[in-house]
Amino acid sequence: MSTIADNIAQVSSRIQAAAKAAHRDENSIQLLAVSKTKPAEALREAYAAGIRDFGENYLQEALGKQLELADLPLIWHFIGPIQSNKTRAIAEHFDWVHSVDRLKIAQRLSEQRPADLPPLNICIQVNVSGEASKSGCTPADLPALANAISALPRLKLRGLMAIPEPTEDRAAQDAAFAAVRDLIKSMQASLNLPLDTLSMGMSHDLESAIAMGATWVRIGTALFGARDYSRP
Ligand SMILES: *Cc1c(COP(=O)(O)O)cnc(C)c1O
Repeated sequence: MSTIADNIAQVSSRIQAAAKAAHRDENSIQLLAVSKTKPAEALREAYAAGIRDFGENYLQEALGKQLELADLPLIWHFIGPIQSNKTRAIAEHFDWVHSVDRLKIAQRLSEQRPADLPPLNICIQVNVSGEASKSGCTPADLPALANAISALPRLKLRGLMAIPEPTEDRAAQDAAFAAVRDLIKSMQASLNLPLDTLSMGMSHDLESAIAMGATWVRIGTALFGARDYSRP
């Protein structure tokens, strides 16, 4: 059985190879360890192997692990759908939010971000797969949403997050990630926003995402193994 440290080494060499193939500096790509459904001990093991950034989807589960791991200097990323009654705890307990897709949520996060913490790093989740996905704002709504979010005082808009529909067809996968890259490029050009982040690519498609410009890859299964949702 492979250990989490072995898996991290394997994913790191996939990232390295993908960066090389794309003529990119491997240091421009960061690994976000997606630890939803995994116990605190698994995160501790990943920390011992060098991981600092963890992505969580479920607030209550994440808060529990944060308490158990309070002795470690971890960086927490919220990457799941956000209901408005969860924004206060997210604003208080996370460093990044990748899954903002409407202004109301962003406004609440800004109002509720504690004054003694730095501005909350934000990615707007954009839906480039149309009907196939419910989460994420439409490309058409993106410029206005980005402008409004960039004006909120306690948030720092960093870029875009996307989860394109998975496909075995590499050309189609590349095209979906390229669409996200093209969106951020046109925002950089027309909105004059200092965006530096493309959060895209998961266990099965990180090579394609890196080829198309990902700066965070969000990796769960390839680091921690398959998830068991039947556990309480
Ligand atoms: C679960 C999840 C991931 C990780 O997916 P894997 O296929 O397990 O690597 C990445 N991003 C988001 C938003 C997720 O919910």
